[in-house]
Amino acid sequence: MSQAQGVSINDLQDELNGEVVIPEDPGYDEARQVFFKGIDRKPAAVAQVAGAEDVARVVTAAREGGLELAVRSGGHSRAGYGTSEGGIVIDLSELKSLDIDADANTAWVGTGIKAGEYTTATGEKGLVTGLGDSGSVGIGGITLAGGVGFLVRKHGLTIDNLLAAEVVTAGGEVVEAREDSEPDLFWAIRGGESNFGIATRFKLRLHEISEIVGGMLILPGTPETITGFLEAAKAAPEELSTIANVMLAPPMPMIPEEAHGKPVLMGLFAYVGPVDQAESVIAPFRALAEPHADMVRPMRYPELYEGPEQEPQLAAGANFFADSLEPAGAEAILEELPKSTAMMNAIQMRVLGGAFGRVPGDATAFGHRDSELFVNVAAMYADPGETETHNAWVNGLADTLGRNGAGGYVGFMGDEDEATVRAAYPGANWDRLREVKRRYDPDNLFRLNHNIPPA
Ligand SMILES: Cc1cc2nc3c(=O)[nH]c(=O)nc-3n(C[C@H](O)[C@H](O)[C@H](O)COP(=O)(O)OP(=O)(O)OC[C@H]3O[C@@H](n4cnc5c(N)ncnc54)[C@H](O)[C@@H]3O)c2cc1C
Repeated sequence: MSQAQGVSINDLQDELNGEVVIPEDPGYDEARQVFFKGIDRKPAAVAQVAGAEDVARVVTAAREGGLELAVRSGGHSRAGYGTSEGGIVIDLSELKSLDIDADANTAWVGTGIKAGEYTTATGEKGLVTGLGDSGSVGIGGITLAGGVGFLVRKHGLTIDNLLAAEVVTAGGEVVEAREDSEPDLFWAIRGGESNFGIATRFKLRLHEISEIVGGMLILPGTPETITGFLEAAKAAPEELSTIANVMLAPPMPMIPEEAHGKPVLMGLFAYVGPVDQAESVIAPFRALAEPHADMVRPMRYPELYEGPEQEPQLAAGANFFADSLEPAGAEAILEELPKSTAMMNAIQMRVLGGAFGRVPGDATAFGHRDSELFVNVAAMYADPGETETHNAWVNGLADTLGRNGAGGYVGFMGDEDEATVRAAYPGANWDRLREVKRRYDPDNLFRLNHNIPPA
């Protein structure tokens, strides 16, 4: 008889439509694995749920049995919130239903689907919802955090295109949250992550986008290319969203050998305006310096997600919203990059504005709408003993670049202190979130997250 705290795992195995994987099962090690391979926790069980009813059953069992509850969609949480030591994991990755309404330009999608899988399927119909820059991220986690991606300036965050969500509450009830049904819950889940319930399906708006101009432009990393890139991205029409990654060049075949190990700016482009105007939109970036590589070209939107992805063991990170870098920010980046002892490190900058900035700061739990720049400092490493060193490096540089207490984005955060989570929700959003938490999860059952304590 398998028992964890007050929960009978055998009963769950009998009652669920999905599988419940326990340590004795051959598939256990695979089932407990999350994206960051250095996170090595051993849950009592992983419930590979088949739908909202299964989720409700596990939620009720965990609540009544006093068992720690983790929820996982794509498993990309840097803090490892998608797994638990000794608790139970609700693994949503089997929830991959996708029902596209091409007349209404909407889709109902299961929250276990990955960004790349979703975009490939909708892209076949010439329809797209903006997600992040990584195809392997789960649609569940990225949507509830906000979703900053290739369409952020043209169509806003993923949550700005969320029309409804099927949510299992802490009480085990299945509800639909929309503007006109459970409106406070609907407001809170648009940026408040897993604090309020477990989303099992989303209704998302789709945009008619097929051919775009996108891809990577690799420039030498200099103060002029960094500041010039950010200025050009701000001046560009909102049909263009960019991501600038400044790092020491890895030995990639498309980068000339003499540049390996030197600072480079890897610019990622997604231009969704008229293809014949792309040349003039991208020209100011190409003019910044002789590129090491220029792979910006007409493509189908889903191609943005093709190609290999990094699979780091562990990552340190510090992120913040601002209007611009500190005046000497570019120089500081270039000075600090070689000092880090991480296996790889990068400073990622995304210019915002456009549709992102037109949403009022209190319209969704995610605030920061008047910020024009998002900065994320990241360091990848393998040895858990080095965590403090890399945390110090990313935090030090984030402060130098202009963070200084400014709030950040929970989607990119690790396990943070309360002040950092608090600062992620500016203005009155924090108090409203705490009030909604009190109504929907007064006992803080959903606490493996950037936690919002009940009011
Ligand atoms: C390589 C990489 C690239 C990234 N790029 C971007 C990017 O471009 N833009 C961006 O906005 N973010 C980006 N992120 C951040 C990412 O969106 C967040 O880490 C997100 O939370 C991951 O979601 P997940 O479902 O994959 O992770 P998980 O670890 O499964 O979940 C993350 C958190 O969300 C909760 N959760 C997941 N699904 C649900 C659900 N259905 N209901 C309730 N709670 C749920 C989990 O409990 C956990 O607390 C990136 C992260 C990585 C690792």
